[in-house]
Amino acid sequence: MKLQCVDCHKEYAMEQFQYQCECGGLFDIVHNFKQVDTEQLKQTFNERLSERMTPYASGVWRYKELIFPELAEEHMVTKYEGNTGLYNVQSVKDYVGLNQPVYLKAQSENPSGSFKDNGMAVAVSHGKSLGYDKFTCTSTGNTSSSLAMYSSMAGSKSFVFVPNKNISMNKVMQTLAYGAKVFSTEGKYDEGINFLQAHSEELGLYVCNSINPFRIEGQKSIIFEIAQYLNWQLPDWIVVPGGALSNSTALGKGLKDLYDLGFIDRLPRVAIVQAEGASPFHKMMDQKAEQFVPEIDPNTVASALNIGNPPSWKKAKNVLHATDGVTVAVTDEEILDAKAVIDQSGVGCEPASAATVAGLKQLVDRQIVDRDETALCVLTGNILKDTSALQQYHTGDYQFSNQIINTELTYKNIQKQL
Ligand SMILES: *Cc1c(COP(=O)(O)O)cnc(C)c1O
Ligand SMILES: [Zn+2]
Repeated sequence: MKLQCVDCHKEYAMEQFQYQCECGGLFDIVHNFKQVDTEQLKQTFNERLSERMTPYASGVWRYKELIFPELAEEHMVTKYEGNTGLYNVQSVKDYVGLNQPVYLKAQSENPSGSFKDNGMAVAVSHGKSLGYDKFTCTSTGNTSSSLAMYSSMAGSKSFVFVPNKNISMNKVMQTLAYGAKVFSTEGKYDEGINFLQAHSEELGLYVCNSINPFRIEGQKSIIFEIAQYLNWQLPDWIVVPGGALSNSTALGKGLKDLYDLGFIDRLPRVAIVQAEGASPFHKMMDQKAEQFVPEIDPNTVASALNIGNPPSWKKAKNVLHATDGVTVAVTDEEILDAKAVIDQSGVGCEPASAATVAGLKQLVDRQIVDRDETALCVLTGNILKDTSALQQYHTGDYQFSNQIINTELTYKNIQKQL
């Protein structure tokens, strides 16, 4: 394993671990997979499905050989993350207008309620292996909830920076409850990142933001698990929401691993969906612009997507290039309506996740996705992660609002409602 800069391609040994290259570029982790026996590994991954109470019962560490083979077992932190449901949902298929199955991968079922757990289990384990006991991140909420949970599981402390507006209180409360110190700061997510880049080393803090390449390694397990559950036959399209673009990056990296090693023989196309009010990456791709222009004042109901300056945009661009992928932007209203359909199917998710189904619907309407193709949407966060968005929708006048019925308790009143 070594680190390689995405920009200047300079390589660094693992012992020289840093978050960024001297040129300012982000790092990719480069594995040496020469020894990998694909058929043998498939068998190992299948056998581990029956593990209980060992780190390999985790839906992340099940794939340790493809994620962090060198890590000593004593440093593996886990809360049995991953192992999330994969659903074939008729109502979502009808809503987006496809003739073929639409799968939902419910990363919302992770222990802290979002896909951030897949990456965080690995980042905190790496930090532990380096001897850190103080972890930090800046976050719109789910990263901090996840970090706080794993830090406590590892017997360590966490310190998180959250912006003081446009965040979900559920996530902040969850972070506090797990025992993190939470600093609410003026300014945006992006400014928090800059602060940590400047000061974390001096402060003795291990940084768990998406710039940490170990988070990307852990998040690769999402596509590994999807592929394993579908017997190594992936759908035509994989749809993910794009905020900081770490999920998109990890998806692409995981797909490349699977393809290069012969686990799969065909790459699906990747669609990255952004919220219109926070869609600088989509704008760049849509206008075929060379320059990336950050969004100064991002604004969307999908708080996890409310990011104006995603650090991983270059990696995400490479993913689109490698998979013949597309980007799409959806309105808050499209997001909330799609969310209501997902919620009412019984699967449920938070607003940012529903951007995937909204985006898929738009891609079908615009005939970019053919009605006879198959698709999978990654649902990133839990239905209870943003209860104020739920309340606003169901007390408001929206397409699928499900209002509380105030009634006198008589047989007749109830019977006519059934
Ligand atoms: C973090 C997050 C996203 C965005 O993922 P990125 O890797 O930042 O693009 C989407 N949905 C939820 C629920 C999240 O927590
Ligand atoms: Zn560099």
